[in-house]
Amino acid sequence: MFEKILIANRGEIALRVQRACRELGIKTVVVYSEADRDAKYVRLADESVCIGPASPLKSYLQMPAIIAAAEVTDAEAIHPGYGFLSENASFAEQVERSGFTFIGPRADTIRMMGDKVSAKKAMIEAGVPVVPGSDGALPNDDKVILETARKIGYPVIIKAAGGGGGRGMRVVHDEASLLKSVSLTKSEAAAAFNNPEVYMEKFLQKPRHIEIQVLGDGHGHAVWIGERDCSMQRRHQKVIEEAPAPGVDRALIAEVGESCVEACRRMKYRGAGTFEFLYEDGRFYFIEMNTRIQVEHTVSEMISGLDLVRQQILIAAGEPWTLKQEDIQLNGHAIECRINAEDPYTFIPCPGLIQTWHTPGGPGVRMDSHVYNGYKVPPNYDSMIGKLITWGADREQAIARMRTALSEMVVEGISTNIPLHRDIMVDGPFNKGDFSIHYLEKKLSEREK
Ligand code: ADP
Repeated sequence: MFEKILIANRGEIALRVQRACRELGIKTVVVYSEADRDAKYVRLADESVCIGPASPLKSYLQMPAIIAAAEVTDAEAIHPGYGFLSENASFAEQVERSGFTFIGPRADTIRMMGDKVSAKKAMIEAGVPVVPGSDGALPNDDKVILETARKIGYPVIIKAAGGGGGRGMRVVHDEASLLKSVSLTKSEAAAAFNNPEVYMEKFLQKPRHIEIQVLGDGHGHAVWIGERDCSMQRRHQKVIEEAPAPGVDRALIAEVGESCVEACRRMKYRGAGTFEFLYEDGRFYFIEMNTRIQVEHTVSEMISGLDLVRQQILIAAGEPWTLKQEDIQLNGHAIECRINAEDPYTFIPCPGLIQTWHTPGGPGVRMDSHVYNGYKVPPNYDSMIGKLITWGADREQAIARMRTALSEMVVEGISTNIPLHRDIMVDGPFNKGDFSIHYLEKKLSEREK
């Protein structure tokens, strides 16, 4: 087992990884920007290294500074968390080339999954259901493009192979605008992602976002740990996640989960990963794979009793990994509300000094946050300052506990989206589990009227 791990991230996930390390008796090195000097996990770390000014480009995205910090502190492995460099294949490569263990998949796996055309191809080969679409990237042939769209049926969506973060996509409703949209998306993709390749998919009108959590040992053994429903989104950003997905046939989910495991076996997937699907009319359609731990991993932990960060570390250390599919027993229901420092009506970020931070408690309540009374939320990063998670024997109890937890929670000094979460927890369709990825935006636009 490792003696010392460097955590190449910030905020709640830095603290989350640190907690897993401490439980395993592993020392932690934390790298931080000047804006994060006073963070809780910096104080709790065995060693800490300032890697630059507040701007992420000059600190958390600085590969040489992070690798140098690992060198001077004699860390053995680097945990990238989520965001920042976590899905950067060249970072994973440089970490390993410098003699450290990257706590995540191999660089070639990250690269393959980062290219949506090659990712989709790998999924088709493994029998994972995908969105009907073009056979790989679109060729430079108008006739073929028109024919492909005709075969799929309008509306279609043109997506950049190198796209990410909800960028590089264009919906096309009719043949008249198809060729122009394809060439526009191509030139945008070339500029934004340095890769002009685009592909075409059927545009699903009212899907849900459901994703499968996996763990693989890097040698062809893998398990899936249930699914999460992340349909409650605003501008492609997840706001609330839950596990399991309400109202979906368990046998169908098991089939999809098994196909994800097969894909992991084929690519000898190493570490934690997520297969993201759109789900519509009783069918699953793969859209992309995330090769890292996700923000919403907590809800899977609550229903499985597993510590997914601990599992990531065990796998990276190459310890004999004995987790079997029959060991994965899911129990009850869990919900996560992302607590953001933002105005609950305008969604404008609201950094600043937190004067009061009073968190809820009681049975089945979990709070993952690096924030404390007197903490100053810096303006330089994502506005998420914590995650409130509740567990219940069933969905009703998990929601009831979330309502109580949200009513107990007090944050003063800055605005947060807690009022929005309180609204959603008493929302009719949400309580019935009757929503698509467009539901929250629709509800918000009606609220504004
Ligand atoms: P990114 O890597 O940018 O997040 P994804 O492929 O995961 O790109 O897609 C992001 C979002 O775009 C999805 O969550 C969904 O809302 C929408 N989307 C993508 N593909 C389709 C599709 N075929 N039909 C409908 N919506 C889609």
